[in-house]
Formats: sequence, structure tokens, C-alpha cells
Amino acid sequence: MAVDLHLHSYFSDGSESPTTVVEMAVAAGLSGIALTDHDVLDGVPEAKAAAANHGIRFIGGTELSVLWRKQSMHMLVYFLEPGEGPIQDRLEELRRGRHERNLEIVNRLQELGLTITYEEVAQEAGTGVVGRPHFASVLIARGFVDSAQAAFDRYLAAGRPAYVPRLRLTAEEAISLSRESGAVPVIAHPHTLHLRADEFATGFRELVACGLGGIEAYYGEYSPEMRNRIAEICAGLGIVATGGSDFHGTYKDHLAVGIGTGDLRVPDIVMDQLEQIR
Ligand code: AMP
Ligand code: ZN
Ligand code: FE
Ligand code: FE
Repeated sequence: MAVDLHLHSYFSDGSESPTTVVEMAVAAGLSGIALTDHDVLDGVPEAKAAAANHGIRFIGGTELSVLWRKQSMHMLVYFLEPGEGPIQDRLEELRRGRHERNLEIVNRLQELGLTITYEEVAQEAGTGVVGRPHFASVLIARGFVDSAQAAFDRYLAAGRPAYVPRLRLTAEEAISLSRESGAVPVIAHPHTLHLRADEFATGFRELVACGLGGIEAYYGEYSPEMRNRIAEICAGLGIVATGGSDFHGTYKDHLAVGIGTGDLRVPDIVMDQLEQIR
């Protein structure tokens, strides 16, 4: 059986409810999932209940943007429930930092003549945590760009004129806080780190010493060879090779639950391995 350990709902920048995400996982024949909305755990109780209803396994989690060697790194944190805790307490602060960043993005866009308001973006996000994909949607709706990719490439991506960095933990802080919370931190989609092949094997050693529990090896944008190579690196480091689709619903309509761009398959043993390393 297969699982999917990287999924977003409308509690952050996905378009679907946690219940719908679970139903899509069941329809895809998956035996377990993790919900990993950005900086928020609000969707976890609903997803957990839906997974229990359907008899599939479930892990609550989140995805953080952290700083590592001056780069932006995404970190998935598994085995989290809403409430109090070392990492939970920092999520609120991170969401505040995100909100301030979002207001600044609106200013930048307005200066560029793209006259969108924060209210439009907040409305697009509904009750969820506001992220750049919501900005992209508003820019499309207002006719300023014709695709989300164009919105990122022209304005929102790092290095582009409306890019504004936001408050981030360092990778080491995120790992320590996760472990103190009884959670397992995992590096998401490591190809976004611009590491050379030789650095790939050695670069993460110090993070493993801090408590890193895994690296996302099974990811849609990787070739099967690349997935296997990252899995081998994980085995060498004594950590778990995890995986998931990074499903966002209509915000990334090329990615489907369970299969990513089509050929993804994350073995269900990954869930057991995460539990063992916890
Ligand atoms: P935020 O959390 O607001 O910083 O936005 C992060 C979201 O934007 C994630 O869903 C990313 O996958 C998406 N994203 C970030 N950079 C890009 C990019 N260059 N192209 C497309 N999507 C991106
Ligand atoms: Zn996202
Ligand atoms: Fe990510
Ligand atoms: Fe993601």
C-alpha cells in the first residue's frame, strides 16, 4: 500500500477541506496520510477524524520555512496536534511574521502598479493562513498575469520585485523545537536547496546530529533514480526517506493526492519508520 505525507488543505494554501483531502486519499487507494499545512495545525483534528472514519492512518503535521546556510529550506514536522508545546507556541509568532510580510507584499505590488488590496487576498484565502499562492490567484483574477507560475516568476518568487522574506526559525531551532515537542522534523523537497551532488550526501550530517529525522525522497519532481539516490543517502545517515505529493488542490493543479505528477508512490512502511524514529 502507498501513503502521502505532504498534503495541504484550505487551512493554509490548499483549496480543499481536510475531509476532502482524506476522501481523495481513500479514492487513490492510500492507507495513510499526513496533513502538513504551512505554519498551522488547525486542520489536523478534522483530518484525523475523517481518516479514522475511513480507517486509514493519519499523522498531524505542518510545513515550516526555515533558514539553513542562508538558504530557505522547507521542513515538514510530523506528529503534531494543536495546543501548547515548544513548536506549537512558535507557530503563532511565525503566522504573525507571515501576516506582516503579506502586508508588505501588497505594498510592493501596489508600487508596481498592480492595484490589489489585502482584503482581496484575505478573501481568497478564506479562513486559512494567507500564502503567496493566494496572491497569485488574485493577480490572475484581476488579469495581471495568466497563470500562477507567471505570478511567481514575475513578482512573487525569491529575487523578484514583490518578494519579501518573512520571519523564520533556523533549521537547527526548528529541529530542536520539534524534538522537544515529540515531533519528527524532515527536510521537504531538498532539490530546492541548490546543493551540489557531493554536498547532498554530506550537507545534512550536522542536521542529523541535531535530530533531523528524515528527508523527502519520494517527490513528484524527482526522477525514480533521484528518489532512490536520496533514499540511499537517508539509509546512510540512519534517517527515514519520506515522501508526498505536496498537493494544494486547484492552487497547483498538476499535483494529485498520492501520485503527484503521476508516477509517485510512497511506500507505507515510511509511516512505521517515522514512528520508530520518533
Ligand atoms: P508562502 O508560504 O506564502 O511563502 O508561499 C509558499 C507557497 O508558494 C508554497 O506552496 C510554494 O510551493 C509556493 N511557491 C514558492 N515559490 C514558488 C515558485 N517559485 N513557483 C511556484 N510556487 C512557489
Ligand atoms: Zn503551500
Ligand atoms: Fe514546500
Ligand atoms: Fe508543501
